[in-house]
Amino acid sequence: MYEPVDSPDETTLFPYHDRTPPTTADVIRARRVVEEQLPQTPLIRSEALSAEFDADVYLKREDTLPTGAFKVRGGVRLISQLAPEFHDPGVIAASTGNHGQSIAYAGRVFDVPVTIVVPEDANTSKVRAMERYGATVVFHGRTFDDAREHAETMATEQGYRYVHSANEPSLVAGVGTAGLEIVETLPDIDYLFCPVGGGSSAAGYCLTVGALSDATVVGVQSEAAPAMYRAWKEGHLQPAERMETFAEGIATRVPFYLTTSVLRDQLDEFQLVSESAIERGIRELFFEETIVAEGASATSLAGMGQLQEELRGKTVVFPISGRNLAPERFQRIVGTASSD
Ligand SMILES: *Cc1c(COP(=O)(O)O)cnc(C)c1O
Repeated sequence: MYEPVDSPDETTLFPYHDRTPPTTADVIRARRVVEEQLPQTPLIRSEALSAEFDADVYLKREDTLPTGAFKVRGGVRLISQLAPEFHDPGVIAASTGNHGQSIAYAGRVFDVPVTIVVPEDANTSKVRAMERYGATVVFHGRTFDDAREHAETMATEQGYRYVHSANEPSLVAGVGTAGLEIVETLPDIDYLFCPVGGGSSAAGYCLTVGALSDATVVGVQSEAAPAMYRAWKEGHLQPAERMETFAEGIATRVPFYLTTSVLRDQLDEFQLVSESAIERGIRELFFEETIVAEGASATSLAGMGQLQEELRGKTVVFPISGRNLAPERFQRIVGTASSD
């Protein structure tokens, strides 16, 4: 059993949480187990977006991974390194969906019991998926932060290993393997856009595409949930007053220490986009590419729209970070409108 230790941010950390930011070498080390357990994802040129931006636009199809989102790369790496003392009590995490699916999937691969705490209104298809992977799902509170605090209490009381959604170097290193796959296939990349929620994905791209190519790495967040943007720009770890985005994959109110420190060091640009631009991105990806993208995935495209002039003639990559859009939301955003 472990007691919480002093935490540099507003979340709870335990003695087993290593606060050293991961390096590019850590991502390269993570590669082996990710490659063993997961397929390499396709990097596909989008004809429609290339024409629209007068650029070479490529999509990194992280939505083709099992669980339908990039996070499983990090889950697999972290659980593969789980200390033996935690194999029996197992692990616990808080999630709005995709982090939970990732840990549930990895728990099944490595035979470790998994408990996921989700907010009461969690995306039901994501919850069903976690249960299918064998996780125990606990509903608690209205927001991610309510669920997170409950998971942190349960970890203290029950002795589970708390898998933080960002303050985990091995999780960030695992997530970074997507960036290694990109630079190996397309070393002459000029821009990489990625969504920022807790910042693990953006940190992973900084350590790979940012470090190993000449690309400008641009993070994108909703202006309705700008916690990490503020932390990056203003150099603090204060929670944001606003957290109202519909895109649960990037619905973060509290900035996280580890990912913020990587992003402050290495992220080149950070854009805020509107909720309506994110919805437009979902529609565009569906009507132009027949891709079902979560709101979190569509933020990148919304961010590209704000830098259209700069992107002309360039090679631009963004990940389709996840495809787990709730059916009723898909219907509301895509089903009732034509492309605009
Ligand atoms: C979690 C998530 C993000 C944001 O990633 P972070 O590493 O938390 O910044 C983006 N898109 C999808 C689909 C996600 O699940």
